[in-house]
Amino acid sequence: MYDVIVLGTGGVGSAAMLACAKRGAKVLGLDRFPAGHDRGSSHGESRVIRRSYFEHADYVPLLNLAYGLWDELEQRCGEQFLHRTGVVYFGPQDGVILRGVLKSAENHQLVVERLNAHESMGRFPGYVVPPKAGVLFEADAGYLDVEKCICAQIQEATTMGAEHRHGETVMRWSADENSVVVETDGNRYRAARLVITAGCWAAGLLQELNVPLRIVRKHLHWHASDKDTYRESHGGPCFFYEANGGHFYGFPDAGRSGVKVAEHSGGTEITDPLSDLREEEADDTQRIEQFLKQYLPGVSMNRTRHEVCFYTMTPDEHFVVDHHPEHKTVCFAAGLSGHGFKFTSSLGQILTELALDERSSVDVDFLRLNRPGLC
Ligand SMILES: Cc1cc2nc3c(=O)[nH]c(=O)nc-3n(C[C@H](O)[C@H](O)[C@H](O)COP(=O)(O)OP(=O)(O)OC[C@H]3O[C@@H](n4cnc5c(N)ncnc54)[C@H](O)[C@@H]3O)c2cc1C
Repeated sequence: MYDVIVLGTGGVGSAAMLACAKRGAKVLGLDRFPAGHDRGSSHGESRVIRRSYFEHADYVPLLNLAYGLWDELEQRCGEQFLHRTGVVYFGPQDGVILRGVLKSAENHQLVVERLNAHESMGRFPGYVVPPKAGVLFEADAGYLDVEKCICAQIQEATTMGAEHRHGETVMRWSADENSVVVETDGNRYRAARLVITAGCWAAGLLQELNVPLRIVRKHLHWHASDKDTYRESHGGPCFFYEANGGHFYGFPDAGRSGVKVAEHSGGTEITDPLSDLREEEADDTQRIEQFLKQYLPGVSMNRTRHEVCFYTMTPDEHFVVDHHPEHKTVCFAAGLSGHGFKFTSSLGQILTELALDERSSVDVDFLRLNRPGLC
C-alpha cells in the first residue's frame, strides 16, 4: 500500500512525485512512457518562464513558488535548468499581452521595463518592432530545459525512495473514503491518495467530470541563423509578439538546433494524440515563415528541426486544479492550456498538499473545477 500514486509522470506528475517524496510519503509514479518522452506535452527542449503574467495576475504567487522550487532543484542536482535570458514583449499598447503584463506587474510589484522602439532596436537588434507597437522587457524571465527538468525531478524523487514505473498504461481507477485502487495493463496498486496528472489524456481518466478539454496539435520550428544577436550566449532573449492576428513566441539559439519559434494562437483540434500525425501543416509553416521574415529577418528560412506537441485547452484557457468532487482521496491538475510547464514545480507541491493536507498553502481557488464558465 502506497501513501500516494501519481498517475502520469510528465511535467506536473514528476514534480508531484518529488514533492511527495520530500514530505516523506511512500509514492509510486506510473507512466505509459519513459521520463522525458516526446508523445505528450512536455518535450522540444525548452519552455518559457516569466512572472509578468498577461494570462491572469492571480498566477503570480504560483510563479513565485515555482521559481523558488526550480532554483532548489538546480541546487539539489548541481545543474542549470532555468536560463534567465529575459523575455521581450512586442505588441499593441492596448493589446492582450502588453496590458496583461503591465497589470500583473502593477498588482505584484514586478520589475518590467518599458522600452521605446529606438531603445529596443539598440538593445535587441534583429528583433523588429512592429509599427506603433510597445515593447516591454522582464529580465528575470527566460526558459526551462523541459525534458531535463522532468528527468531530474524523477531522479531526485527516486533517490529519496519514490518508485517510478514506466511502460504501464493505467486502464482505470476506483476510490472509496480511505483508499484508491489503480489498475494498469499489467498490475493493480492500492494507495491512500491518487494524484491524476495525465496531460492530454486527462479527459479519459476524469470522464465523469465532463471537463470540456480540447486537444490541439501545435508545431515547434527551429531555424538556423549566423547572427550573434539571436544567440543566448550573446544576450539573445526569449520573445513574444502579438502580431499578424496571433501570438508568436520563441527562444534564442542555445547552440543546438538554432532559433526556436512557434505560434501560441490557433492549432488544429485532434482526438487521439497517440495516433496523431507528426508532420508539418502548410498553413502553420507559412505563418511562421512570414513571421520570421517580418520580425526576425536575420533568421534564415533553413529549418533545422520540427516537432509536434499537444495543448490541452479549457474553454477559459485556465488550468483546473482541484479535488475530485466525489472522491476526496483523489485530486488532479488538467487543462494546462499551453502555458503550464513553468508552473509544474509549484503544481506538484500544491497537489501534494491537496492530497496529504486537504488544502494548499497557495490559493488556487481561481482554478477550481466549479468556477463560473468552465463546465
Ligand atoms: C508546443 C508547446 C509549447 C509550449 N510552450 C510552453 C511554454 O513556453 N511555457 C510553458 O509554461 N508551457 C508551455 N507549454 C505547455 C506545457 O508544456 C504543458 O502545459 C505541460 O508540459 C503539461 O504537463 P502535463 O504534466 O500536464 O502533461 P505531460 O507532461 O504530457 O504528462 C502527462 C503524462 O501522463 C502520462 N499518461 C497519461 N495517461 C496515462 C495512462 N492512462 N497511463 C499511464 N500514463 C499516462 C503520459 O504518458 C504523460 O507522460 C507548451 C506546450 C506545447 C505543446
